[in-house]
Amino acid sequence: MNEIDIRAQLGLRPIINVSGTMTALGASIVVPEAVAAVSAILGEFVEIDDLQRKASTVIARLCATEAGFVTASCAAAITLAVAGAMTGDDLSAVERLPDATGLKHEVVILAGHMVSYGAPIEQGIRLAGASVVPVGQATSARHHQLAGAITANTAAAVFVVSHHVVQYGMLPFADFVEIAHARGVPVIVDAASEYDLRCFLAAGADLALYSSHKFLGGPTGGILAGRKPLVRAAYLQNGGIGRGMKVGKEGIAGTIAALQAWEHRDHAGIRATENGALELWMTTLAGRPGITATIEPDPTANPLDRLRLAVDPAAAHITAWDLADRLAAGPRPVIVRDHEIEHGFFYLDPCNLHPGEAAIVATRLGDELARAQASNEVVATSFTERRLRQARRRQSWPD
Ligand SMILES: *Cc1c(COP(=O)(O)O)cnc(C)c1O
Repeated sequence: MNEIDIRAQLGLRPIINVSGTMTALGASIVVPEAVAAVSAILGEFVEIDDLQRKASTVIARLCATEAGFVTASCAAAITLAVAGAMTGDDLSAVERLPDATGLKHEVVILAGHMVSYGAPIEQGIRLAGASVVPVGQATSARHHQLAGAITANTAAAVFVVSHHVVQYGMLPFADFVEIAHARGVPVIVDAASEYDLRCFLAAGADLALYSSHKFLGGPTGGILAGRKPLVRAAYLQNGGIGRGMKVGKEGIAGTIAALQAWEHRDHAGIRATENGALELWMTTLAGRPGITATIEPDPTANPLDRLRLAVDPAAAHITAWDLADRLAAGPRPVIVRDHEIEHGFFYLDPCNLHPGEAAIVATRLGDELARAQASNEVVATSFTERRLRQARRRQSWPD
């Protein structure tokens, strides 16, 4: 936390984030190198094409590929990549989008990859004027289904790597690439949260897309990297539908700095600090009635473990979601990772902690579990009511 916490000035709660890199919570702690670059460039004029040329060389080096540029977000990169695959370098087509008349306009994507990262991925594809062609079923994708979905109108094949996607029954990436490439279709990989900047391009992706503001600790932005003609075609969209997804000089300079810092980051040291937090929480939770704590690796094999905290309400005297809501309340709110909480568990993600916060999380966990234990009744509010309450709160913003 900064010495002067701007959150107090703005009347915001001083939340502690153990949910991961969530856009709704401000994504990540921006690394000092990126903070410095952002503030250094804000007062200057620059030639954006040149700044993006510099970004291209840095992205190309880190991703071991031909070219790249910085976008407003990974979501923007999805739309721009698809648009570029449709228009190529035809500037009149760039200006006609999202009218796709006369262009290849179909985009194939496995049904099990059609997830929401806060917005539906297929909407990001359709924004370019493309039609989404789902392949297979929610939990199954077979070779013939991808092959059969590709037509003369197919502009691109989108592959999503994420904990959100169905993790079984899908086509392996290598097979996806082989089938698409055999039919001349470029492969775009949404790897927004993946630490490995090279593996998908090395395995045949034509474009790989990342977020700047997740594991990299950059400012809000995205990275579009890969084969030069497709990168260029995507870049040209800045004179078309990309205008409303504009990244500023600060986003570009900050992302360059975050990438350069990533090259020199003490990855082992950071992992050790994260593991220290997990061990502390394991100790705090040991022997608590109704609580089962386990350490789990990241589902997409990022070098990151999380603590899975499962709650037996009868023994703990509280449900998982009521515990999460109590942790999120009070003067030191702790926001947990609750994607699967209806199953009675949530995660604690140690990748976004300031010094001292792991200990506060431990105290808060201990206090809330002891308080529930001391209650004579099981704290069990309706899960459906919780969901509806969250939806109502969103729909009544800004009230
Ligand atoms: C976070 C995420 C996105 C969106 O990234 P932004 O940079 O926040 O727009 C897209 N796809 C996946 C798989 C994500 O995890």
